[in-house]
Amino acid sequence: MQNKAPGKDISLEDLKEKIPLCAKKHKNHKSIVKVKDISFGGKEIPFLSGPNTVENLKLIMSVGKLLKSLRLKGMRGGAFKPLTFPYRSKKYFEPKLDGLDWLKQTKDKYDLVVTTEIMEIKYLDNICKATDIIQIGSRNMQNYPLLTECAKTGMPIMLKRHYGSSLRDWLGAAEYILAEGNNKVILCERGVSVPHTHKSTSRFLLDLQVIPAVKEITHLPIISDPSHSTFWAPWVESMTLASLAAGCDGILIEIHPDPKNAAVDPLQPLNFNQFKKLLLKSKKIAKCFNKKIV
Ligand code: PEP
Ligand code: MN
Repeated sequence: MQNKAPGKDISLEDLKEKIPLCAKKHKNHKSIVKVKDISFGGKEIPFLSGPNTVENLKLIMSVGKLLKSLRLKGMRGGAFKPLTFPYRSKKYFEPKLDGLDWLKQTKDKYDLVVTTEIMEIKYLDNICKATDIIQIGSRNMQNYPLLTECAKTGMPIMLKRHYGSSLRDWLGAAEYILAEGNNKVILCERGVSVPHTHKSTSRFLLDLQVIPAVKEITHLPIISDPSHSTFWAPWVESMTLASLAAGCDGILIEIHPDPKNAAVDPLQPLNFNQFKKLLLKSKKIAKCFNKKIV
């Protein structure tokens, strides 16, 4: 097939034939994904904030309480964790069904919208009952049977980009969800591997440029994860602000009352005070776009 847009990763044929449901139908085509009383892709910019891992009920309740006091609506927290190395310690564990139960209790108490990652289809029902947005982690971006089963539930789905994937492959994965008739897809950029990330100073590189690229060709909302991309709390503020300036539709961010003692990835969460400061700055940027952080 002739490529009529040479030099571009995604050709016009791709837009028509491979990812027709992701592609914009007209210049101003935008989808707004509504989840309970918040929405992605419209006038709101939701922050989904919380610990990497739902370590215990007390921890997640303290996060819920903070979010409520800041009038934020979205919370994150992993109950099932795809850890890079297989060994677990007492501190380095997966709470699984207990974690879902703690998320649900916190969500009900503070009236929050919650996202958590799915790893195995066998937990799909439990996840649907306890949370509001199914998170597909980077490592499962191209696990097509998982995408299809999740899509069939009709639940909103946050599809994280694999750190080695092109935009074309990422949208191919999103198309699997849309093809099941589920149009509640939220893309999440979380950093990619490139040569400079092979140094110890950077594990990933936040691909800020993919935000306008996604908006140029698709109607889907895109959020940014400055925590996993930087893997380093001191850089999270600048990358959050940069993502907002680049036009993202939401932020997925790790916060923890005591980052040093976080069970997983202790280098990346902000503490509650750092988070509050970041929020004040974020609100100023959102205002430039006539949008509101929720
Ligand atoms: C996460 O958000 O908890 C996570 C594991 O992220 P990623 O899939 O992007 O590595
Ligand atoms: Mn992690």
